[in-house]
Amino acid sequence: MRGCEIMKIFLYLSIIVIMAVSFSMVNSGETFAFVIPFSLVPIVLTGYFYGVIWAYLVSVTLSAFYIGLVKLGLDMPAMFICVASFNIAPVIVMKFNNMFERAKKECKQSLSQAENDYAGTLKEDENLKKSNAQLERDVLDMARLYEITKAMSGKMEFSGIFMVLDKIINRIFKFRRARLILVDKNQQNGEFVIKAVYNIESSKKDLFFNDNKLAHITVSSDDFLNNNAESLQYASVEPEVSDIALIKRYPEPVRDSDLAGVWLFSKDTPMGILSIEGMPPEQIEKFLIIVGQFALELQKVKLYEMVQQLAILDGLTGMFVRRHLLERCQDELRRSIKHKLNLACLMVDIDFFKSCNDKYGHLVGDEVLKQISAIIKDNIREVDFAGRYGGEEFCIVLPDTSTAGAVHVAERLRAGVESHIFKAYDENIKVTVSIGASIFPDDASDLNQIIDCADQAMYKAKADGRNKVCTWKS
Ligand code: GH3
Ligand code: MG
Ligand code: MG
Repeated sequence: MRGCEIMKIFLYLSIIVIMAVSFSMVNSGETFAFVIPFSLVPIVLTGYFYGVIWAYLVSVTLSAFYIGLVKLGLDMPAMFICVASFNIAPVIVMKFNNMFERAKKECKQSLSQAENDYAGTLKEDENLKKSNAQLERDVLDMARLYEITKAMSGKMEFSGIFMVLDKIINRIFKFRRARLILVDKNQQNGEFVIKAVYNIESSKKDLFFNDNKLAHITVSSDDFLNNNAESLQYASVEPEVSDIALIKRYPEPVRDSDLAGVWLFSKDTPMGILSIEGMPPEQIEKFLIIVGQFALELQKVKLYEMVQQLAILDGLTGMFVRRHLLERCQDELRRSIKHKLNLACLMVDIDFFKSCNDKYGHLVGDEVLKQISAIIKDNIREVDFAGRYGGEEFCIVLPDTSTAGAVHVAERLRAGVESHIFKAYDENIKVTVSIGASIFPDDASDLNQIIDCADQAMYKAKADGRNKVCTWKS
């Protein structure tokens, strides 16, 4: 039992005692003694239970009440009943008050319970919304990854897959700058050669995939892949010191606070490293998936290019095969017609090559063919191209070149072969070539004519004593 309750019991008992004493005193006619305790008890009780202000209030009320009783001239029993009821009142009030407090407390409890339940429901709702949004994001991610795979696998050349990579990185990731560094690793000494570096600048286009809008976006492959594909800006750029530093960390993937770098492999051979700066860590996992996909596509493109090369290059000399040479020549002729430019064609034939073969053998002859091919490649510009037209005949196409220009190149070539000592299988051989030149549009107007004229000019050079340059008109 707590002290407060003992105190209350004590007060109740004291009220009863005081009332009994006062009653006996009333009977004996002591009005003053009766009034004092009966006034004090409610004042004290009120003060105890409700505080000083209420005690004063009761005190004032009592004073007024007694004055009223005296003025009304009530007899003693009536006064007694009034005073007794008055004294019991605080106790009753207190009881009601307790009941009220209890009810209030219960109400508060159930209110806070209801509030807690409501907060719980709100939280559940919020969690549900979050997981829904996450789900939507996952679905969208999957759709994107599917589109990426589809987009990349449709491209057969590097520029195609790089354009898709650039778009994806710009649309999916937040970053400042990304760089693709393509390398070749020398298997003998393990050294890396940087083949090309491509910058992927953040174009800040990720507003399109702003998280708030995720729910309202459906991925259309056409829009995603083809929209503005041509306007994409990318270029092969110079390597930076930071690129070299990245390569030095091979084979470890880079995971610095602001920089991530992932190696691209073809089987176990490194093809390059894709680095990205300023990407939030939570996007790394997605980035790895994209890089993996890109590596696969890069591998495919490389293989495709190899096959393409095999189909267009001559196995012995590394020059274009005749079919490809003629295709390229036809394209170049179209361009020359369109831009009203000259086009020169040189036909090169080795002099007395049959006897060279007969004297030194075919293996030595093959070596001579290879070295002449190298001399031709060394003596023409980037825009020129050459191919192996027949067994030991080469055709060289010189865009935007006049007769004088063509003769100049042909003469340089002839002299270069003449002065060269062909070292093959311990043999030192001297060889010469005869060259015929024809010019579009001066000598001929279509591809067959151009080749034919150059051929005829070459035979003229042969007839002239070989080791000569002739034009079709000369
Ligand atoms: P010229 O042209 O000066 O009239 O005399 P030539 O002896 O060179 O005659 P021609 O151009 O007809 O010679 C063709 C020879 O080229 C025949 C063949 O032995 C040789 N030849 C053709 N293709 C190859 C090849 O792939 N390797 C080798 N070693 N020789 C080849
Ligand atoms: Mg020949
Ligand atoms: Mg010949």
